Amino acid sequence: MITRRGLMLVLSSPSGAGKTSISRKLLEREDELSMSVSVTTRPRRPGEVQGRDYLFIDPTEFQLMANRNELLEHAKVFGNYYGTPRGAVEEALAAGKDVLFDIDWQGTQQLAANARQDLVSVFILPPSTRELERRLRTRAQDSEEVVAQRMAKAADEISHYPEYQYIVLNDDIAASVEKIRAILHAERLKRERLVGLPDFVRGLQDGSGD
Ligand code: 5GP
Repeated sequence: MITRRGLMLVLSSPSGAGKTSISRKLLEREDELSMSVSVTTRPRRPGEVQGRDYLFIDPTEFQLMANRNELLEHAKVFGNYYGTPRGAVEEALAAGKDVLFDIDWQGTQQLAANARQDLVSVFILPPSTRELERRLRTRAQDSEEVVAQRMAKAADEISHYPEYQYIVLNDDIAASVEKIRAILHAERLKRERLVGLPDFVRGLQDGSGD
């Protein structure tokens, strides 16, 4: 029997490129895909739900998790700490389920170094600077100071695009979702992800297979 190891689908982009909307739609369409819920030391924003958007924890607890090697990757982003709990991801991958990550380039670099075989990385680019600025300015939840900080950071985040395997220019959410689904569907068929393939093929060759 051939089974499949799950993959880690990482979406990165500067804030305001449309990543959150794309992620939501991907999760709606793809049954075998679930979101990795990160831990963070950042304060909860209005409307965010503990355990759904993030696990909001204090810096001491974060440090403990990092020290115990309970985080698959972690990084400081915009002055707060973020990390991916290891357990849920490893369970999903072993069960043949895919996991979606909304993490920054620092986290992606760590996954590339430690789990390259399971990683599928996609960088989402905004269609233009003007559109990026517009989206950042119309986002109500952040203070002006945070918006200005994020605009400065956007250029920096974008400079990391060469470290990603796939690039999606997001000028249309629905089209971007379909592009990422195509990537996901092709990546699922990668020979390296198929468990039991050599035995299956041997069975076909010597006539002992089912
Ligand atoms: P926000 O605070 O707006 O939710 O996220 C800020 C940035 O942190 C985003 O670029 C997001 O991708 C990144 N981020 C969220 N969770 C994680 C994580 O677990 N690890 C890393 N490395 N980055 C994260």
